[in-house]
Amino acid sequence: MKGLVYPAWDQLEVRDVPEPTPKPGEVVVRVAAVGICGSELEGFATRSPRRPPPLIMGHEFCGEVAEVGEGVSGYRVGDRVVVNSVISCGQCEECRDGQTHLCRDREVFGMKRPGGFAELCAVPVSTLLPLPEKVSPVQGALVEPLANGVHALSLTRQRFPETVVVIGAGTIGLMTLQVAKAAGALRLVTVDTNDRRLEVAHQLGAEPVLNPRRDAVVASVRDFTRGRGADLVVDAVGAAETRRVAVAATRPGGETVWLGLHDDPTQLSGFDVVLGERKITGSYAVTPRDLRAAIGLFAHGKVELTPWVRPFPLTEGARVFRELVTAPPEDYIKALLLP
Ligand SMILES: [Zn+2]
Ligand SMILES: [Zn+2]
Repeated sequence: MKGLVYPAWDQLEVRDVPEPTPKPGEVVVRVAAVGICGSELEGFATRSPRRPPPLIMGHEFCGEVAEVGEGVSGYRVGDRVVVNSVISCGQCEECRDGQTHLCRDREVFGMKRPGGFAELCAVPVSTLLPLPEKVSPVQGALVEPLANGVHALSLTRQRFPETVVVIGAGTIGLMTLQVAKAAGALRLVTVDTNDRRLEVAHQLGAEPVLNPRRDAVVASVRDFTRGRGADLVVDAVGAAETRRVAVAATRPGGETVWLGLHDDPTQLSGFDVVLGERKITGSYAVTPRDLRAAIGLFAHGKVELTPWVRPFPLTEGARVFRELVTAPPEDYIKALLLP
């Protein structure tokens, strides 16, 4: 089969690789579509030890069951499926509490084990969810990033928030924006340093859109909310500066959710947190429930992909991946590969 292989640091090529066989409890999925994730671009660009070559990356994928291993029930050859990117052990206390995404022994596809940048990928049956007929392969590959937005919002106590600010108009930011809209947010604000991305966010319903190179973000959000600040601010970048802005733009009693993992140390105003009772919540990965909610949002036409998602054949994978690393394209934000 063909796979997009990462054989050594800084190398990437499409070549023939052996087909996987399912171990007991696994199925082999014929990959229909797989997203290229920002974490993979960054891992490749920075030679991250979290993704050591030789490796086939890819953790955002869907497809069809091609082969069923020993002891697998509930799935048959030909079933359409989407794959949870996190593999959990099922045994630890977090898993038994239903927090499988926080499993102590969790693994992610395309990190230590082969992922979906290939025609076939072996996956534990516990990671599968059925994909309904009306959700396309392109949508199926975006279930995981959409579920990241669902997860972030599900961690908050906001019901019908008046103003939601999303910092970062990359894939996760644009997904979070659309989840917030579907969840009844009355006004959506997006912040990014790239005007092209802000244009897409605007098309998806954000108004106003703010560029920190030009706009004083915190002051603008306060102006816009009669001096109060936003009910909810989601930081989908994860830089020390965006985390600070997220907290400062939140109203007293409001919430901020941190999703991005750009920087680790972060200096904040402790007074803003204590005197304003502002809550900060970390959001990591997704639960099976978030994935099901994301599938439902696609099935009911609540998510728009047209202006910003572009599929490419797997054979162009190395070129597309390198382009995304070196010179982010102007005319799309998210690339998918179709094996
Ligand atoms: Zn990802
Ligand atoms: Zn576990």
